[in-house]
Amino acid sequence: MKPHKNVKIVATLGPASNDYDMIRALFEAGADVFRLNMSHGSHDEIRARHQIIRQIEADLDQPIAILADLQGPKLRCGVFSGDSEELIEGQAFRFDLDPADGDASRVCLPHTEIFAALHPGATLLVNDGKLRLRVEACGPDFADCTVINGGTISNRKGVNVPDVVLPLAALSEKDKADLEFVCELGVDWVALSFVQRAADVEEARHLVNGRAAVLSKIEKPAAVSAFHDILAVSDGIMVARGDLGVELPVQNVPAIQKRLVRSCRAAAKPVIVATQMLESMIESPVPTRAEVSDVATAIYEGADAVMLSAESAAGAYPVQAVTTMCNVALEIEADSTYREVIEASRGASSPGVAGGIVAAAREIAETADIKAICCFTHSGTTALLTARERPRVPIMAVTPFDRIARRLCLTWGVTCVVSEEVDRFKEAVVNAVRAALNGGFATKDDQIVIMAGVPFNVPGTTNILRVAPCDERQIYRSEPE
Ligand code: ATP
Ligand code: MG
Ligand code: MG
Repeated sequence: MKPHKNVKIVATLGPASNDYDMIRALFEAGADVFRLNMSHGSHDEIRARHQIIRQIEADLDQPIAILADLQGPKLRCGVFSGDSEELIEGQAFRFDLDPADGDASRVCLPHTEIFAALHPGATLLVNDGKLRLRVEACGPDFADCTVINGGTISNRKGVNVPDVVLPLAALSEKDKADLEFVCELGVDWVALSFVQRAADVEEARHLVNGRAAVLSKIEKPAAVSAFHDILAVSDGIMVARGDLGVELPVQNVPAIQKRLVRSCRAAAKPVIVATQMLESMIESPVPTRAEVSDVATAIYEGADAVMLSAESAAGAYPVQAVTTMCNVALEIEADSTYREVIEASRGASSPGVAGGIVAAAREIAETADIKAICCFTHSGTTALLTARERPRVPIMAVTPFDRIARRLCLTWGVTCVVSEEVDRFKEAVVNAVRAALNGGFATKDDQIVIMAGVPFNVPGTTNILRVAPCDERQIYRSEPE
């Protein structure tokens, strides 16, 4: 069985993780959410991966979330005839509008707006800032550059121009077409790249129209400034450190990460820490100590999820990367300092009945010998509020809806179970107990805490907290109808 950890793992799929066996191996190693990057791969490839994930979900009878990441107004170079080229410090390199495949001397940069805004002396950064080029001469359809920091440039790598302000629309025509495609396909989360203001999120939300949850990637200085408003209209957040560390001085990223993670927890919305978490594992079966420490830091901070990008999409060791993250999570979450940090950073309970009940459930679970907290949820809100408490015991969310169970795969500590709607409290208790037993969270002699709403099937009515025995015979004997 998949190991139980609180923090979730998002694994990006790509050429290194294309087929059923590999994707299933990633899931079994600890991945909870699969990310499909719309910047790479055709609709047919995306559809094929989506189908494979749904097949694995059916075969293992466990919900799996799919996150489609829209390219947004990200600037990217074209493709190379040999897929990649090595650029050497001091060499000349040209970006232009010629759609022909690139080589060691040039590549297409299909964005007229960049050429219009460039000037000699400006800097171009490629691949999250790993390569740096200086513009020597430029015109409306080319830029001749000198390579300052060399390295590998490959197909569709991101390009940043930190010295230049570009007029960017939130969603391109490609994004709108991709958005409609993935919503019809049935993904659970849509991630928006290069969000700058709350209105960008609202525009996408309008198009998504409830078909998926909406996650905002924070990777622009403007988004950091407008974070409060962006969070209010988003269902989740990604701290997209790759572009953030290029758009802002790299030393600003850790403090921003901490602040964003805390704000998301306070708002009971899931937050992903992303980019370069185990970067060296693209080429090596073992991580660096610094990378392990980075993953650990995100977990100590209470992030809902940590993410793999090229490590799982295009690296040589995708399963080892997931296993490494999972092992770090298991070790950190068993550390007593982890509990201290998590508890010290818990804010006041959310106002209202549901907020009070989840706080009480957490307190009972911590003072008595309770094996799990189980909540019934229609919209997922009760599960999100419970996760916000970061309780010591596993959270089980029981919901009648596949799409809610899948969405919650991104949330800290939550294991989801899809179960038919019930209309009597006794049946609900029996369902919760069975889910806890099946999930391996409790045995017959244990007790669990159950939260529910009566009358059943009316959203927003959490009003009951019950400590129940896991022995079905006892439930039938003692439970009120
Ligand atoms: P973003 O800014 O959205 O994260 P990215 O280019 O960094 O975009 P990631 O999904 O983070 O993309 O993956 C990192 C790298 O892995 C990519 O730059 C690309 O080289 C490779 N990659 C990822 N997915 C694919 C894919 N489906 N096909 C080809 N290469 C891929
Ligand atoms: Mg990015
Ligand atoms: Mg990336």
